[in-house]
Amino acid sequence: MRALVYDGSKPRFEPRHPDPELAPGEAIIRPIAAGVCSTDLEISRGYMDYRGVLGHEFVGIVEKVHPDVDDKAKQLVGKRVVGSINCVCGKCDMCTRGLANHCRDRTVLGIAGRDGCFAERFSLPVKNLLAVPDTLDDDHAVFTEPLAAACNVMNMLRIESRPFVTVLGDGRLGLLTAQVLSKLNASVRVIGKHPDKLALCEKWGIKHRLLSDVSLRADQDVVVDCTGSASGLDTALKMVRPRGKVVLKTTVAEQKGVDLSPIVIHEIQLLGSRCGLFSDALAMLNGGEVDVVSLISRRVKFAESEKALATAAMPGTLKVLIEFE
Ligand SMILES: [Zn+2]
Ligand SMILES: [Zn+2]
Repeated sequence: MRALVYDGSKPRFEPRHPDPELAPGEAIIRPIAAGVCSTDLEISRGYMDYRGVLGHEFVGIVEKVHPDVDDKAKQLVGKRVVGSINCVCGKCDMCTRGLANHCRDRTVLGIAGRDGCFAERFSLPVKNLLAVPDTLDDDHAVFTEPLAAACNVMNMLRIESRPFVTVLGDGRLGLLTAQVLSKLNASVRVIGKHPDKLALCEKWGIKHRLLSDVSLRADQDVVVDCTGSASGLDTALKMVRPRGKVVLKTTVAEQKGVDLSPIVIHEIQLLGSRCGLFSDALAMLNGGEVDVVSLISRRVKFAESEKALATAAMPGTLKVLIEFE
């Protein structure tokens, strides 16, 4: 089959990549559309030391399931699905504690130990799959994974007495996170570098400023770093008030030279946040609570997907979708 593979040097479109095997408990899925994420770009720069098929954001159709799965899972064949990306053992101390996303033995679709979705076919455990309601189209459903990651920020915070929240970064994840947080009882603003991206906040009624126009006054209760850049944490630490919280969503291959002393001096809480619940995100999308379609900058045919990553890395680009024929 054809696949977009990272081999340690650069992403390469391979016309003859081995098909995925159908393992017990798993399904083979044919993607309809896939999203390019900053994590894919970081992986292509060496993050996670990953080798294999790239991609983890998708909506697809279940082609077949392993005969050992239960009847409910068998009914997924032919259905449109999205799927959570962490494939877990169910037995380790993290899994039994309800922290399955942190499974010690996990593989992660297109990120760690498991081929991703930028391919004609890929596999996931059936328990990871969620059927997409007929009322939700592919352009929306493909945003389930990044929206779930944005929703997870809410779980890291207890929102009390209308806090001042800054979302740092006006990229894909920042704009999703800002939309989610703006539903809470909080004063949310987005700080970015791109007037055209910040214009979307105007449309959604979310406050926004250019980074060059704000002074770093250590007055924010919460700063969420969605910059995807190594300098984001440094800026966040200058914006947050003493005893405030910084939520780090940025994954960068190299994080060097950040002065961490403000964390001690100002007693700042630094929280990491990764994946979230797909069910929450799917419900939000189906309820029309967030605007994701405005985030689609480009559509690239799968056969030309080598270009998709370079396009996604270009300034001014929000979400690049890969469309499968
Ligand atoms: Zn992603
Ligand atoms: Zn486990």
